[in-house]
Amino acid sequence: MYNGIGASSGIGIGKVMIIKEQALSYAPTTDATPEQEIERYKQALNKFVDDTMAKAEQMKSSVGEKEAEIIMGHAAMLQDPYMNSEIEKQMQSGDSAEKALETICDMFITMFESTGDELTMQRATDVKDIKKGMLSVLLGIEEADISKAPKGTIIVVDDLTPSMTTGIVKENIAGIITQTGGKTSHSAILARALEIPAVLSVAGVVEKLADGQQVIIDGSKGTVIDTPTEEQLKDYTEKRNKFLKEKEELKKYIGMATATADGKVVELVGNIGNPDNTKQVVECDGEGVGLFRTEFLFMDSDSMPTEEQQFEAYKKAALVLKDKPLIIRTLDIGGDKEIPYLGLKKEENPFLGFRAVRFCLENTQLYKTQLRALLRASAFGNIKIMVPLVTCVDEIRAVKSLVKEIMADLDSQGIAYNNEIQVGVMMETSASVMIADLLAKEADFFSIGTNDLTQYTMCVDRGNADVACLYSVYNPAVLRAIKHIIECGSKEGIMVGMCGEAAADPLMIPLLVAFGLSEFSVSATSVLATRKVISMWSQQEAQQVAQKAMQLETEKEVAEYLQSIQK
Ligand code: PEP
Ligand code: MG
Repeated sequence: MYNGIGASSGIGIGKVMIIKEQALSYAPTTDATPEQEIERYKQALNKFVDDTMAKAEQMKSSVGEKEAEIIMGHAAMLQDPYMNSEIEKQMQSGDSAEKALETICDMFITMFESTGDELTMQRATDVKDIKKGMLSVLLGIEEADISKAPKGTIIVVDDLTPSMTTGIVKENIAGIITQTGGKTSHSAILARALEIPAVLSVAGVVEKLADGQQVIIDGSKGTVIDTPTEEQLKDYTEKRNKFLKEKEELKKYIGMATATADGKVVELVGNIGNPDNTKQVVECDGEGVGLFRTEFLFMDSDSMPTEEQQFEAYKKAALVLKDKPLIIRTLDIGGDKEIPYLGLKKEENPFLGFRAVRFCLENTQLYKTQLRALLRASAFGNIKIMVPLVTCVDEIRAVKSLVKEIMADLDSQGIAYNNEIQVGVMMETSASVMIADLLAKEADFFSIGTNDLTQYTMCVDRGNADVACLYSVYNPAVLRAIKHIIECGSKEGIMVGMCGEAAADPLMIPLLVAFGLSEFSVSATSVLATRKVISMWSQQEAQQVAQKAMQLETEKEVAEYLQSIQK
């Protein structure tokens, strides 16, 4: 048995499919004649083009026309006569096909990257992709294709990326095991959105398991059982059925108000990563969206989404929600979220670096494009703007001033928008906690991002398995931070919500009710379970729990106490 972090609940029983990044190493020279090598290159090129076109055809229906076009562009680029003649020249001089390809691709990559022009720099990313794909063909390395995984597959991978998830056929994937990532890493969030049981951060698992091996994973406990016995299989099949039955029973909460046992109504909304997820939130009876992570729009694209593309995405979500709230967070990149075409530098401490609002306020053109798209979309629904990673008052003031500037622009062009649009602060840094009273005067609302708040309060990288034991929201330091934020927000009369994963944690819910949290934003799949737990606590009972919990001195004591009073 292997232990990891339970990141998406449920039991998965199935056969392992390992997705491994293989080393693309090769000999720079060859014993073959240049003619033979050129012929080998041409054959590989034909295969690359055929494979790419077949993949594009398949993607048209499974992913989308736009993504398919990008892939088709890759095939066209490698067939470019100039590029091909340069590669041939290299082979004429004795290079192996692999070396010739790499040399010329690298030349193009350097050339594109040095222009400083965003669109041209994007071409560099395309060439990198092409180089990798074509090298795999030349070396005879077959890439594992997740979209072809048969029913009952357990994916085992170093890390699950958003682009990988586009190939996942949900019904066929029984579970996900990764080597990296914590409970709030983006692989975890993606797995939960797909409702696939997942265990993350299992050290060395890609090497330890073998293709086709049977395993059981428990996504709540974070365990992986390799080669299970008959008895274990029987036991876990029963557990899986019980889990699915409980999930079915939650459906009775559809259509109910979200209220405590004594009738205090709170808001229960969903977290989304793209406009299509909005439908899922509505289907799960979410009362709006409390966090739209817009960086996924940027991460899922090979180039910067234009104002029009962003406007359409935000408008689409707004139209699905009608007048329900839609809190859209402005671009939150950096940390564990990379966007290659933005050309961000590698940093020693990415979580403490040039990210989120810091990056946006230095790249005002990019930020203004997003804010303009948001403002235009605000004419179609109840959109609110949320700013991530705020650490000082100046940042929120700067954002508000950009919003005003764009409003004036839109006015002069006669373009509609909501001129009372709210601008809120995501409370997720220690600095924001310390100045919560000041920020509450500037912001129209707060939303507590406990994923980062825990990271920054405890000084613990949220994705680092070695320090995962410190990464817990039950730490008295984090609980005090949450309480303080809610008190400061409430004193100024602004709405205080929570969009970090703790909002859906049944152990945390009595405390959040007691502190006076007024909005819970959770993944679509947690909406009904959260409504159920909220309905089980009266405010008075919750107060008693909070009083006791806030006197405890260690994380362990808090966790054990909250566990002991679970209903
Ligand atoms: C958070 O930090 O709690 C949060 C909701 O944002 P993200 O997980 O995207 O950093
Ligand atoms: Mg965050």
